[in-house]
Parts: sequence; C-alpha cells; structure tokens
Amino acid sequence: MRNYKHLFFDLDRTLWDFDKNNHETFMDMYDKFQLREKGIENPSEFYDIYQHINFALWETYKAGQIEKERLNFSRFFHSLNVFNVDDKELAANISEYYIKVSPLKSNLYPETIETLEKLKPKYRMHIVTNGFEEVQFIKIENSGLQKYFEKIITSERAGFKKPHTGFFDFALRETDAQPKESIIIGDDPETDILGASQIGIDQIWVKHKPVKPETIQPTYAVNHLREIIDIL
Ligand SMILES: [Mg+2]
Repeated sequence: MRNYKHLFFDLDRTLWDFDKNNHETFMDMYDKFQLREKGIENPSEFYDIYQHINFALWETYKAGQIEKERLNFSRFFHSLNVFNVDDKELAANISEYYIKVSPLKSNLYPETIETLEKLKPKYRMHIVTNGFEEVQFIKIENSGLQKYFEKIITSERAGFKKPHTGFFDFALRETDAQPKESIIIGDDPETDILGASQIGIDQIWVKHKPVKPETIQPTYAVNHLREIIDIL
C-alpha cells in the first residue's frame, strides 16, 4: 500500500444517498402538489415511470442534445402526461420545487459518519464532485459532512468534469497533493475510478449495490464504507 496523505471522496451515491434522498423528495412532491387528487393514484408507479423518463432524458442531455432546464421540466411534464395530466404550469412548479428541496435531504449511507470520524485524524480529506457549487454545498452542510473536509472541489469551479484530467489536475493543485500520496473513493467506474487511474491516483470503488459486469479493475473495492478503514 502506498503512503496516502490525501483522501478524495466523491459525494453523490458514495456518501450522500442520492437514490433515497431523491425518492423522499419525490414522495414529498406527490403530497404537496396533491397528485392523487389529479388522478395519479399509485405514487410508486408514478415514480417508476418518472425514473425511466428521467434516465432517457439524461442520456440526451449527456449527448448535448438538450439543456439542463429543459431536462428538468420535461422529465415531469412527460411523466404527468403518461397519467393524462397535461399541465405545463404544474410541471414547471414541480421541477422548481424538486431542485430546491432535493439538496436539503440528508440521508447518508450507513456508517458514513463513523467512518469519517475514524479517518479524520489520520488524513487530509476532500470532496471531489461533478455538480454545481450551490447545490453540492447545501447537501454537504445539511447532512453534517462539512467538518470532515478541508476542500470541496466541484466541476463547476474546476471548469472540467470528472473523468477529465483537467478536473483531477485542478483538485491536486487546490489541495497541494501529489498523485502518489492520494486516493479517490467513489462509486462511478468511469468518472471516479478510470478518471483517477489515468493520472496515477489509486482508487477505492465503493459498490453499495452489486455492479455487473465488472470489467474495471480498481486498486481496491468495497461494498460498505466502513471497509475503507481496513484498507487505509
Ligand atoms: Mg457518485
């Protein structure tokens, strides 16, 4: 094992339970906008349909075919349409609510705080995340993560997104770290694991859920955050 000094943690789906927080926000939204009264009787069915539509729209967004605002509006507008609710104003209000409320959620994966407590005295720890400053800072603050991290590096500030080497170069410069004394801890095989490996940073792949097929070879892999303590 290398002699690590700097730990770089991804945020969404590594520490912050993105799926649980998203689901909670969705159910709050369902109540707040009284969607049952509008004929959408089964919130779980609505959520499943929304997830399919959201996923497809994200693909077109990643391909540069739609703007972020359009994505946010359309995923709700189309989901409502499936239930014969044709209401642009409602879709716009829901999308605005969603963006505002979701980062306020604070569910972390089990033993996140315990793990960070154990690591904090031994390492300099940072967050490396693809996302907007404002949104990511709200999540970090609300979920009690802030005190564990020295630097929070977002793609918005770096001017590059993971897995671009420009992002990792920026992170190393900001923290005064060398690749050989750094390790990244993240859930995404492309953005986190391959991204870090291409500039010589070791990686711990956090797989909260089983991942198939496993074609990528990280330096280490874990299924629970607390297993990191055994590695480091
Ligand atoms: Mg992630």
